[in-house]
Amino acid sequence: MIRKVAIANRGEIALRILRACRERGIATVALHSEADREQMHVRLADESVCIGPPNPAGSYLNIPAVISAAEVTDADAIHPGYGFLSENAVFAESVERSGFVFIGPRADTIRRMGNKVEAIKLMQSLGVPCVPGSDGALPDDSAAVIDVAARIGYPVLLKAAGGGGGRGMRVVREASELLSALEITRSEAAAAFGDASVYLEKFLTQPRHIEFQIVGDGAGNAIHLGERDCSTQRRHQKIIEEAGAPGITDEQRERIGQLCVRVCQELQYRGVGTFEFLYQDDAFYFIEMNTRIQVEHPVTEMITGIDLIALQLMVANGEPLKLQQTDIVFNGHAIECRINAENPRTFIPSPGLVKQFHAPGGPGVRFDSHLYGGYRVPPFYDSLIGKLVVHGMDRQQCIDRLRVALEELVVDGIDTNIPLHADLLNDARFCAGQQSIHFLESYLAER
Ligand code: ADP
Repeated sequence: MIRKVAIANRGEIALRILRACRERGIATVALHSEADREQMHVRLADESVCIGPPNPAGSYLNIPAVISAAEVTDADAIHPGYGFLSENAVFAESVERSGFVFIGPRADTIRRMGNKVEAIKLMQSLGVPCVPGSDGALPDDSAAVIDVAARIGYPVLLKAAGGGGGRGMRVVREASELLSALEITRSEAAAAFGDASVYLEKFLTQPRHIEFQIVGDGAGNAIHLGERDCSTQRRHQKIIEEAGAPGITDEQRERIGQLCVRVCQELQYRGVGTFEFLYQDDAFYFIEMNTRIQVEHPVTEMITGIDLIALQLMVANGEPLKLQQTDIVFNGHAIECRINAENPRTFIPSPGLVKQFHAPGGPGVRFDSHLYGGYRVPPFYDSLIGKLVVHGMDRQQCIDRLRVALEELVVDGIDTNIPLHADLLNDARFCAGQQSIHFLESYLAER
């Protein structure tokens, strides 16, 4: 029985987890860095422990510090949130070996899906469509690599097997660039991910990013909660996400959703997870799986009415998944705007004191954020300071609600990307929907 959860994260997701625990009568311990003493969730938690310096390497990524803080506070489970240690198999293993429940999949699942080459092999063996590419990691044989790329056809994309967060990828447009690009990608991958293996995929020119949310109970029961469109990206980082994906039919949703469910049943998957696909010319291509809660999970919550963090807590507690696929009913549309502390034109991070803060409201409006007036955004972390999520009958109502909500939202004292969101909502291509992953970059270049 989980009675006390240690939250090994910060910002809006730490607050989101804290709220879900409190609703269920579960006590909370906030594990925070020296820079995060003033975080809202630290104030609200039953207990808090400072686990190290501002630099994440010494705190949020410091496995012994996290585990000993859970020990001294007598927590029974650790929630890793997203980012930081959430997809670290060594961490998940250490947590369970120390006698705590890891709120996430088993370590072997994280390890298997964290290696993209392994994940793709598993998907192919289960009939999930993948991007045409090399058969596993590229060999050390230059002639063979040149052959593989020629067979797939340029442009191709080199990807680090251990990559993540939009890093470890390089587009190659012609054969003459291939070997030098491979060398750079390999050495970067070795330095950044401790694994020099690199594979190759066809670079899709106009894909959309469409991902499926799943949940499994570790005993072979699994369901999907539909898809999200996360094509509005800058430098492979998502900025706006929505559910469902415009133009995706019920038949497509059911077909791809069921494929994902089958993989989860096969893996005896425990927890929530996301299968990411690229979608182009009516076809889906699996690219990777994320074995954790995602930043954009609220849009799925809005259209299904299901609390995904509560589901995480339930399956971590060993409860069987009571929900059946037929219980999942999709209602209307939802869109999330990621609010970042950054300049809306230069994208330079803008930490500092939030002098005034006002959250928007009204029907169908949700603002997930740790902000309050007088809060100081520290310079050490990701620039995400809030997520404005709206729910409406359809996409147009969401856009109308977002316009109003963005006008109401006040974050004074620092730069934010609120004006960028407001501009995007006035762009005819964005409003039409179904734009590719390159839309935002070309929009910014034109501007
Ligand atoms: P990460 O783990 O770093 O997020 P992904 O494999 O999920 O890496 O890819 C991140 C983004 O890179 C995708 O959302 C998409 O925008 C782009 N991308 C990945 N693979 C391809 C591909 N084969 N062709 C075109 N774009 C791609």
